Amino acid sequence: MSGLFGDLAGQEAVVAQLEKAAAAAAALLAGRPSPAGGERPPGRAQPGAMTHAWLFTGPPGSGRSVAARAFAAALLCPSGGCGHCASCHQVLAGTHADLMLIRPEGLSYGVKQTRELVLRAAGQPIGGRWQIVLFEDADRCTEQAANALLKAIEEPAPRTVWLLCAPSAEDLVPTIRSRCRVVTLVVPASAAVAKVLVTRDGIDPARALAAARAAQGHVGRARRLATDASAAKRRADVLRVPHAVTSLGPALSAAATLVRTAEEEAKAVTEELDDPERESLRRAYGEGSTGKGVAKAVRGVAGAMKDLEDRQKSRATRVKRDTLDQALLELALFYRDILMMQVGADVELANPEADLRTLAAASSAEATLRRIQAIMRCRERLTLNVAPLLAVEEMTLSLAQG
Ligand SMILES: [Zn+2]
Repeated sequence: MSGLFGDLAGQEAVVAQLEKAAAAAAALLAGRPSPAGGERPPGRAQPGAMTHAWLFTGPPGSGRSVAARAFAAALLCPSGGCGHCASCHQVLAGTHADLMLIRPEGLSYGVKQTRELVLRAAGQPIGGRWQIVLFEDADRCTEQAANALLKAIEEPAPRTVWLLCAPSAEDLVPTIRSRCRVVTLVVPASAAVAKVLVTRDGIDPARALAAARAAQGHVGRARRLATDASAAKRRADVLRVPHAVTSLGPALSAAATLVRTAEEEAKAVTEELDDPERESLRRAYGEGSTGKGVAKAVRGVAGAMKDLEDRQKSRATRVKRDTLDQALLELALFYRDILMMQVGADVELANPEADLRTLAAASSAEATLRRIQAIMRCRERLTLNVAPLLAVEEMTLSLAQG
């Protein structure tokens, strides 16, 4: 089964737990006694047993949805998760008939959508194994949506398995949390991430390790930094800020650059998603055809297109916010590295030492701490909907002060 779980860097305990559970699930279907001896309720005593509600938690990039997807493939595969049959391929591509992939795209997931989801989830699996709902970012459920979800998890359909993903168990209401078996992914070591990049993506080891360090355990980001030149360039642009902020003028222009770069990146990301969605919606409504019912279809497509555009707009807002936040975290990490050098701490640095040395020698640890605090304050202000440029300018001005 290692092929399915091969993308999970440094998560050996999780992989072992999921492999055991998948074997227990197969035994349940076959009417054999479970190898883990487990029945349905999520007892702590039997982490390898099968249960109908799972909660995958872990910091961003640790691979919680990758783990959930691999587990879904293992549950639906007739050979217990071979990684190369049609069923496994369909799960990994997100097209399996018994897999519902839920990805809240706006800032929250509403009760109406959740009720529809619960209804669909109660159906029988087409392939005769399990009906799986993989709910990414389940923490984005509104309170009412969470209540609708809770009912489905409390009284599960016999063959339905819920796989919820969230940054931490505390992000879900306790009533849902307590009914789920929690799978906890850890921040993988840079070496483990680099190994995945080398073996799965054929990336050169030195480059893989540098990208893994820069991404601090975020596998997807490490892969992007190692393979996508524009992502690497944007990161380099962000990390020029500490050298650039020498006085008022440069500080203000650095702020403008930071905000613009984040907006450009967000735009690139959303455009890549938006266009195919619009295209497939048009095709679904048979645009270009003639004959009876066309006028009706045209009215239908206008409504659906408006819905789609609203959802895309809300996603664009979220991506913009996340992208700028990512840049700020990178900046904070750069100063953390400087601080580690200044106090002589023996920790793995995210940035090459050569980039840090001059700045570390030119300032004090106290000043670096103040700068890190300024970045964190800026992140906080952005979550309070302060205009981005305003918040970032305030930050770069603080960075410029010694
Ligand atoms: Zn398979």
